[in-house]
Amino acid sequence: MLMTGEQYIESLRKLKTRVYMFGEKIDNWVDHPMIRPSINCLAMTYELAHDSQYKDLMTAESSLIGGKVNRFTHLHQNSEDLVKKVKMQRLLGQKTASCFQRCVGLDAFNAVYSTTFEVDKKYGTHYHENFVEYLKYIQENDLTVDGAMTDAKGDRSLSPSQQADPDLFVHIVERKPDGIVVKGMKCHQTGSINSHEHLVMPTIAMAEADKDYAVSFSCPSDADGLFIIYGRQSCDTRKLEEGADVDLGNKQFGGQEAVVVFDNVFIPNKNIYLCGEVEFAGMLVERFAGYHRQSYGGCKVGVGDVIIGAAALATDYNGTGKASHIKDKLIEMTHLNETLYCCGIACSAAGYPTKAGNYQVDLLLANVCKQNVTRFPYEIVRLAEDIAGGLMVTMPSEKDFKSDLKVGKNGESIGDICNKYFVGAPVCTTEERMRVLRFLENICLGSSAVGYRTESMHGAGSPQAQRIMIARQGNIEGKKKLAKDIAGIKNRD
Ligand code: SF4
Ligand code: FE
Repeated sequence: MLMTGEQYIESLRKLKTRVYMFGEKIDNWVDHPMIRPSINCLAMTYELAHDSQYKDLMTAESSLIGGKVNRFTHLHQNSEDLVKKVKMQRLLGQKTASCFQRCVGLDAFNAVYSTTFEVDKKYGTHYHENFVEYLKYIQENDLTVDGAMTDAKGDRSLSPSQQADPDLFVHIVERKPDGIVVKGMKCHQTGSINSHEHLVMPTIAMAEADKDYAVSFSCPSDADGLFIIYGRQSCDTRKLEEGADVDLGNKQFGGQEAVVVFDNVFIPNKNIYLCGEVEFAGMLVERFAGYHRQSYGGCKVGVGDVIIGAAALATDYNGTGKASHIKDKLIEMTHLNETLYCCGIACSAAGYPTKAGNYQVDLLLANVCKQNVTRFPYEIVRLAEDIAGGLMVTMPSEKDFKSDLKVGKNGESIGDICNKYFVGAPVCTTEERMRVLRFLENICLGSSAVGYRTESMHGAGSPQAQRIMIARQGNIEGKKKLAKDIAGIKNRD
């Protein structure tokens, strides 16, 4: 079954997910003005699957249940699937200019699927079987799953089991015949409130002493003991202002980050996918991170397309569109954005089959992709701010532009004054000029910046995490040998 956007939103109402914000419990979180844009954004992953124009990108033939499923629940069957994933993410970035959240689940599915296969081969466990049954259920019901990896981590110089507080990494607190009880918190959880389910993975490679921390499992978002605290974003309370529209920049869509607390949650055996096999924690982390670093070569590029468009509009509205330095800045933004896309496509095209049969991205190229994403969006935003001008951050509020409070000697209102003095080139109204500047403000500095700028830095792992992987995958020894062979230097063993 492929849900529509509306059906997805209605399906969330059936969940009893416990959500807290500003120190209070939020009962109707589906309609909460600060949360709803992120739900609308995720709903686009459902909506576009019904659009004939995008069907090929948005849906795929299931390898598990047969028939069409949403690509966000699909196991990649070949490198073409990996390429289509990146194209789908670019499309969604273009349509929402935000983080549409559903990719973390997709990336977790593919990583858990291939890793559990290898754990079972070594230990004779049944994690793969458990996971296949689980994923069939997800595909059949077209559900959204939060792939939850990052722990609170406490003192970064200590391993999970060495922390003063044992709960700083999610861990098993009790083993029962029919399941386990888990405790801890996952941070930076993209779209967790908007997910039907949570699929939890360890956050780092682990040693024998960390056995209770090498755990992967799934549970419904309204499982007993699970609750979520909403993460606030820059300028978020603008969404609570009555009648807010222009000042929001992006009224319809937004991202969502939160922390998910597992307060002694019981996980039945059938939903366990790793339980103490410490040497596989690293494999799971590496594979998930690889997929999510590939993802950024799609989603951020789509958002980049909208930023470039907005910067070009802003310059038209300012009357500077014909200046050669402006044209050159737009070329530079395009060059940077397409370079990120090249990386996303390249690590997908160079994908390879795992032992379980689904496809994994080329890890070196995926890490190079994400490393570039920690830099280029900052330059793209810098150029957008350069082109837009300072008004983007100094402009009076929407309420001022609409105010009829008389303040001028000739009876002019605040609105009259704002509309008179903020006029731009004749191709736009003052309100249109204001809209595009507020949109850029939202995406460069406001609530959408969490999904574009800072997330480009830390999402899918901070820059140093990629450099460690690049060092591991870069094969410097092999490269030394190439140089020796050609330079006529003998191998001294
Ligand atoms: Fe998807 Fe990008 Fe959001 Fe990650 S940051 S969930 S890849 S849209
Ligand atoms: Fe992210």
